[in-house]
Amino acid sequence: MSFSTLGLSDAIVRAVAETGYTTPTPIQTQAIPAVLNGGDLLAGAQTGTGKTAGFTLPILHRLSTDANGAKLGNTTSARPIRALILTPTRELAAQVEESVRVYGKYTKLNSAVIFGGVGINPQIKLLRHGVDILVATPGRLLDHMMQKTVDLSKVEILILDEADRMLDMGFIRDIKKVLAALPPKRQNLLFSATFSDEIKALADGLLNNPAMIEV
Ligand code: AMP
Repeated sequence: MSFSTLGLSDAIVRAVAETGYTTPTPIQTQAIPAVLNGGDLLAGAQTGTGKTAGFTLPILHRLSTDANGAKLGNTTSARPIRALILTPTRELAAQVEESVRVYGKYTKLNSAVIFGGVGINPQIKLLRHGVDILVATPGRLLDHMMQKTVDLSKVEILILDEADRMLDMGFIRDIKKVLAALPPKRQNLLFSATFSDEIKALADGLLNNPAMIEV
């Protein structure tokens, strides 16, 4: 099994090869085709399994190979946020965005990361410059929503990473407010290491007929 046989484009396979990975991990083997299919996904995976590449690679593929992705590079204007990745902590948000940058280096997609505990103004500037993939912690994202400095009306793919930790940290209300601001027709991916009743309820409300994988 290789990254190209999973259906990823040459631009992405090349970036992955440069990181030194040769073989997809089990979560990647299962998640990548499921996400490329366009359907929802419920994935049980711990940190260290390669889950980040499991969702970032197919998202980069989908956004860079469709009609909108093909137009990128011709214009920097009118670039709505098309994928939103929510993470529980700023450290994880920064790590995930770094992965998006590394794996997406041969695509024309832009990414940005926003989290709390730092000034909001540089983030506002960043958001004005055309972001295709936004990685965020829920609280700060909500701040931007209230200030109308972020537009989520064109989001096509939502990813909840480490959803169990987000709930443990008390983010459920923030997450629900974010969900309410998204277009109803979209692809949803939920990654969690554990499955409490609270996670199951969140997954039930969020996911449509999801593929289910567990590693
Ligand atoms: P994650 O579970 O996403 O936090 O990834 C855990 C670690 O595995 C990270 O340091 C990745 O760089 C690394 N990694 C991810 N996918 C692969 C792969 N297919 N082969 C080797 N290392 C990988």
